Amino acid sequence: MNIKNIAIVGGTHGNEYTGVYLIRKLRINQFQEKWNGLNIDLLIGNPKAYEKCVRFIDHDLNRSFGKKDLTDFELPGYEANRAKVISQKIDSPKTDFIIDLHTTSANMGVSIILVNDNIYNFKMASYIKSKIPNCHIYYIPTESYAEHHFLNTLSPYGFALEVGPIPNGIVRHDIFNQTSNTINVALEFINMTNSGENPEINGAIEVFKHRKVVEFPKDKEGNINAIIHENLQDKDYQPLKKGDPIFSTLEGEIVTFEEDEILYPVFINAAAYYYKNIAFSLTEKVSVDIKENLAKIMKWNNKS
Ligand SMILES: [Zn+2]
Repeated sequence: MNIKNIAIVGGTHGNEYTGVYLIRKLRINQFQEKWNGLNIDLLIGNPKAYEKCVRFIDHDLNRSFGKKDLTDFELPGYEANRAKVISQKIDSPKTDFIIDLHTTSANMGVSIILVNDNIYNFKMASYIKSKIPNCHIYYIPTESYAEHHFLNTLSPYGFALEVGPIPNGIVRHDIFNQTSNTINVALEFINMTNSGENPEINGAIEVFKHRKVVEFPKDKEGNINAIIHENLQDKDYQPLKKGDPIFSTLEGEIVTFEEDEILYPVFINAAAYYYKNIAFSLTEKVSVDIKENLAKIMKWNNKS
């Protein structure tokens, strides 16, 4: 395993400023020289959306990297074109590893988001977890989210980094530093594995595996008519069990969680998803065995 060409992308969503400011800082500080031997490309994902402080202009850029869409030159819209430009940059020279920087208004802390089951990515996530113990690993397998078409799918290795809570359109020193620190730990891992070292990692890691999204309740006209219940607010990655309140409707009713199994909500009340009526996502906690050369995903035994 030798990873040479790396892309770090900020501002894939134009109103998530942390990534954009960080890319600007890394460019000023000759970041490349500090990581001798690695070829690091620093990209702003969606400059036009950043200028306007919006998530996207015509279409979510981070849902625009499907193979079919990338070869459809008739596809209209700014992001359809931008996705092709980024994809070409990632292709020449062939980029082995992508870190795609995001932030969220939800209380997600530092979340490493993996979009495939490459063992190298899980090992890196385990290494990051050993250095940043309160980070979470969120795994979104392609089959559970057939059309995710994330920027990260352009290369086999890497992750999306989601840090929060932070409002859209601002930068905070603490979130900025957490993002920057995570990048440094990831590059440290790459340097170690490139030089043949075997970084010490846990053989089994706790991972939150994506299950499904939960929509807000709606009225007959299709308008959202409930708000996230205060007991659920900010409880990302905490167990949700049958009977727990999840919504308070405008009519004054409490909607409770009705699944029989314990699941773990993420992206609770994320500002980015209101336009899609999405209230939160549900994950199951799994244990991933990374001792062998294959990521073996097992049920989490601890029922809490
Ligand atoms: Zn984002």
